[in-house]
Amino acid sequence: MSTVLVVNSGSSSLKYQLVALPSGEAIASGLIERIGEEVGNARHTDADGTRETETTIPDHDTAMRLVLAVLPPSPPDAIGHRVVHGGDRFSEPTLITDEVCAVVQELSTLAPLHNPANLAGIQASRAAFGDVPQVAVFDTAFHTTIPEHAWRYAVPPEWVTDYGVRRYGFHGTSHRYVGGATARLLGRDPSDCDIIVLHLGNGASVSAIHGGVCVETSMGMTPLEGLVMGTRSGDIDPAVIAHLARHGMSIGDIDDALNTRSGLLGLCGENDMRRVHELAESGDAAARTALDVYCHRIRKYVGAYLAVLGGADAIVFTAGVGENNPDIRARGLSGLERLGIRLDPARNAFNEAIISDDDSPVTVCVVPTDEEHAIAEQTWELVEGLAR
Ligand code: ADP
Repeated sequence: MSTVLVVNSGSSSLKYQLVALPSGEAIASGLIERIGEEVGNARHTDADGTRETETTIPDHDTAMRLVLAVLPPSPPDAIGHRVVHGGDRFSEPTLITDEVCAVVQELSTLAPLHNPANLAGIQASRAAFGDVPQVAVFDTAFHTTIPEHAWRYAVPPEWVTDYGVRRYGFHGTSHRYVGGATARLLGRDPSDCDIIVLHLGNGASVSAIHGGVCVETSMGMTPLEGLVMGTRSGDIDPAVIAHLARHGMSIGDIDDALNTRSGLLGLCGENDMRRVHELAESGDAAARTALDVYCHRIRKYVGAYLAVLGGADAIVFTAGVGENNPDIRARGLSGLERLGIRLDPARNAFNEAIISDDDSPVTVCVVPTDEEHAIAEQTWELVEGLAR
């Protein structure tokens, strides 16, 4: 058995999971929150249960030392870090070196909220774990196969060359993992499948996978484009930004509002889908509209991606909303019977793995995502390969 520590470091939080391979079992996991605030919080779960402590956690180095203190004494065989933006520089899991850290830092211009936070986790982990090999697994990597006609925006060429303005796509680890798991569920070779993956969590994105390779995805240069999300708008007319700026709003405020005060939150005051449903059921008109907008956007993308692929073998739902919410799945795919999509209401209601009826030309599935397991596997594959 090998063990891989998976680290997902945010600006004020650090999530970790110690994964045993090949089983994928989580030996321990935890979340450190409110790094840099007066009182931080550390929660750790292992075979002995869950322990929670409140203490001051000034920085990521301190957070990582807390992790080190609660893990089993023998170090992990490798450490895998989730890194949000790999730009067009990284298309594969990459062994972390000083040079790789420098490029992740450079790419911060494309992901100012994410890459510096990921890097803080990497540096703290390198300090705490010394010689253990560490690997960066990029959210963008699975999407580097998207053809130019899909990744290019129709903008002046120097925007691409000078500023990196193009579609990159995110949630790639999840799309790759769920796409592969769906092919296995169908008993098909991934190279012989066309699959649409709907990752519906707080963030949400769709991808079109042809023969195991991503050919289109809904998130763009940043994770703001595409579907309606918890707090992000998804697609809007880009002219809205200039319009608001002419009304005196600063670019920072507009950016902040589109990322943190839009989406479901902007539409009805709640970003958690469970709360949105409760409100809608109690008759709240804004919550009902929010669900309508959310589901309409899903349907629009499914139609578009069916066209991109020329038809699909499977449509698969994953992440918090996708795995648990029959209503969103049914409404997101309603009216698509003529396109070969027919749900079985009873299977859908019970979140079964296959929720379409037996005669549906397109199989509709629910496949849980497991990004930690996927990062652990990719990390170990690279490290084991290097040792050979
Ligand atoms: P993240 O993007 O933060 O990883 P998740 O994949 O955990 O997000 O998804 C969070 C979303 O999933 C929230 O909107 C939450 O309401 C929704 N969700 C989680 N569990 C359920 C459930 N049992 N029923 C309906 N919605 C759920």
